[in-house]
Amino acid sequence: VAAAPPAIETDAVVIGAGPVGLFQVFQLGLQEIRAHVVDSLPRPGGQCVELYADKPIYDIPGIPVCTGQELTDRLLKQIAPFSAPLHLGDVVTQLVRGSDGGFEVSTRGGLHFRCRVLVIAAGVGAFAPRALKLAGIEGFEGRQVFHRFDLHAQAAGWAGQDVAVIGGGACAVAAALRLADSARVTLVHRRDDFDAPPAEVAQLRQRLAGGALRFIAGQASGFEEADGRLRALTVLDTDSHEHRIPADAVLVALGLSPKLGPIADWGLALDRKQLVVDTETFQTGERGIFAVGDINTYPGKKKLILCGFHEATLAAFAAAALVHPERAAPLQYTTTSPKLHRLLGV
Ligand SMILES: Cc1cc2nc3c(=O)[nH]c(=O)nc-3n(C[C@H](O)[C@H](O)[C@H](O)COP(=O)(O)OP(=O)(O)OC[C@H]3O[C@@H](n4cnc5c(N)ncnc54)[C@H](O)[C@@H]3O)c2cc1C
Repeated sequence: VAAAPPAIETDAVVIGAGPVGLFQVFQLGLQEIRAHVVDSLPRPGGQCVELYADKPIYDIPGIPVCTGQELTDRLLKQIAPFSAPLHLGDVVTQLVRGSDGGFEVSTRGGLHFRCRVLVIAAGVGAFAPRALKLAGIEGFEGRQVFHRFDLHAQAAGWAGQDVAVIGGGACAVAAALRLADSARVTLVHRRDDFDAPPAEVAQLRQRLAGGALRFIAGQASGFEEADGRLRALTVLDTDSHEHRIPADAVLVALGLSPKLGPIADWGLALDRKQLVVDTETFQTGERGIFAVGDINTYPGKKKLILCGFHEATLAAFAAAALVHPERAAPLQYTTTSPKLHRLLGV
């Protein structure tokens, strides 16, 4: 039996690499609190990158306009001096109070942290791919059915095969176009309308007209298997006709949906799926567990990035009182404090 990897010792674990989780790292860093960040998504930015990477934001103080991706890039640059490890594509699942008053935090991917404080910046929950709901198909996950896939790495393996792509967003359209050159592709989406960049939709229409791939407006209603292999999908079209689509691989690109998941089971006070916090410290009812950004609630709460930044600032001061109880933490300005300059490397 392989030994479990040793626990990562750190002052703080931040759940969520959305804008607020990222700025939390900055504020913790100014308080000399080392943090590790975990996010279920493969890249940082939370809703800003997942839901509106190219759209403008106009209400970040001092930045008249920037896109969701630009804000994320700026935050990453701002926290760079603190070199906080980002553990992406992993979900925090377990929280246990340690005997020393700290916490043990574990992830689905097998990471194990021991920390003094936990900051939950989990937004609307861990983003996970929306599942294709066909009873029993989960048995083929990772072999023939893929809710997460990397075209760059996997496309060659599907060459010459029958591939069904399910979905109508940018990811589904890009996958269908890319694979149409090398595989027999059927794109399946609820309706003949795609939520992808106009140039890609135009290209898709052109290639459908030329017969490079097939499209069915409808929904997967069943599947066929033989000898332990998935053979075909059944699709019910919008006129209620059934189609059998041979399928060696099924790529599911139905978008992402957030799930609060295990955080709801940690015994923390919740109000309509949000963590109740005290507005002096942004601590939950549990000493050492803070909640900032869209995940928290308190009288007057507004789900805005700016408000999350304020919350993260006060949470960091309160966390400093727990991590460095021996030190008074007077307010210092980044403009003039030699200590903060040293921490920032400026
Ligand atoms: C279309 C749109 C436009 C918007 N425009 C604006 C605007 O103009 N101005 C503004 O101020 N706000 C805007 N908002 C709101 C803003 O995006 C949110 O307030 C902000 O993203 C909240 O940041 P957050 O860091 O708290 O959470 P999120 O951005 O939701 O990030 C939370 C992260 O935590 C991760 N996570 C959750 N649970 C776990 C777990 N157990 N393990 C690992 N990872 C986990 C999630 O995957 C996610 O990446 C907009 C929102 C939308 C949808």
